[in-house]
Amino acid sequence: MSALAQVLEQINIDEVVELTRALVRIPSVYRPGDPTGTESRVAGFVEAWLRDEGFAVEVQEAAPGRPNVIGSIGEKTPGTRSLLLEGHTDVVTEGEPGEWSWPPFGAELVNGRIYGRGAADMKGGLAAAMVAAAAFRRAGVLPRGKLVVGALVDEEGGMLGVRHLVRTAVGRELDAAIICEPEQNELCLEQRGVVWARFIVRGRMAHGAMPEAGINPIAALAVILDEAPALQKRLRKRCERSRHLRPPTVTPTIIQGPARGVGIPQSNVIPAAAEVTLDVRLTAGIDADGIRGELEQICAKAVAAFPGAKVEWEAVNPFRLATRVERSESLVKAMVRAVRAVTGRAPVYGGVPGSTDGTILRTELGIPIVTCGPGDRLIPHQVNEFVEIGELLSAARIYAASALNYLEA
Ligand SMILES: [Zn+2]
Repeated sequence: MSALAQVLEQINIDEVVELTRALVRIPSVYRPGDPTGTESRVAGFVEAWLRDEGFAVEVQEAAPGRPNVIGSIGEKTPGTRSLLLEGHTDVVTEGEPGEWSWPPFGAELVNGRIYGRGAADMKGGLAAAMVAAAAFRRAGVLPRGKLVVGALVDEEGGMLGVRHLVRTAVGRELDAAIICEPEQNELCLEQRGVVWARFIVRGRMAHGAMPEAGINPIAALAVILDEAPALQKRLRKRCERSRHLRPPTVTPTIIQGPARGVGIPQSNVIPAAAEVTLDVRLTAGIDADGIRGELEQICAKAVAAFPGAKVEWEAVNPFRLATRVERSESLVKAMVRAVRAVTGRAPVYGGVPGSTDGTILRTELGIPIVTCGPGDRLIPHQVNEFVEIGELLSAARIYAASALNYLEA
């Protein structure tokens, strides 16, 4: 029997399903200020599971009470590679439980689907990665190099987990990563980038009945809102078109006047400052300086329209630019062969509409990443989130075959 057949024989659908359900049943919504509202319980479960399966396990405290769990098989020796199967343990809020048809942390199995918060995003993908990697040890097939399973924290927030990982030894030696996010098992070689730009407009306080005595920051802020569609148009010209990604978008998401920390709102007071946040999504083709230039141009327009106003912008989060990996990368070739081998079909290519932990791995380490995992792309963060168990099984098989192809190459 081939090594691949031996490994695939060890991947059992019931196990992937039950592991996904066990992970979903451990709530892991991050709730600041609540010591029990972190990923630590589900991380502890993952750690124990990996240890039982004979993985070498490293627990990294990315933030207090927020541990990354890294399991690995094998060592990266000269001439071999290290491949990461990446997942995150945090989930977004379940929202109003009454809106769900099934309990959000019940992991009910109905008509071939597992329902619950995180079923698709992404405890299903994490479970598939864990079972895929464990199958190597069970089959007695040790891959060349190192196969790593990473269960990271805070993907849905500031990505503290992956930012921590890239500064550690196990992170720095990675050669490639498969990001197990819900993408219907498509091979996603591109991800849109995101920049959250907060504009702070400072004017001069005055009585609402005598606006000529002040400088109204809200009126100047309107210039920024007005410029958003023009910025979107310019970005669509500057950035590359992609078959798999929506073009750049510029979306106002927060408006505050008075700005935070600048007095209370009063109907007859022109506030001293106001602010607006633009959620800017990007495709490849523009760098950080290019974005900065565009945002500064908007500030200049607002100032030109309202002399005396002061307009600045700041990045709410570190920039996450768009990422792209070429089809000629050996990771991609390994995955294409894997998909053909386990599904009998050519892969479907796709694109990730937002950014993922993979964005940080790609930009900080410069390694190739491919996002591929079980679950409908549109289902994350909705009520009645689910994952199809057929996709779970395919994902685990694709991960195992990809790892074998990539590490043996
Ligand atoms: Zn996710």
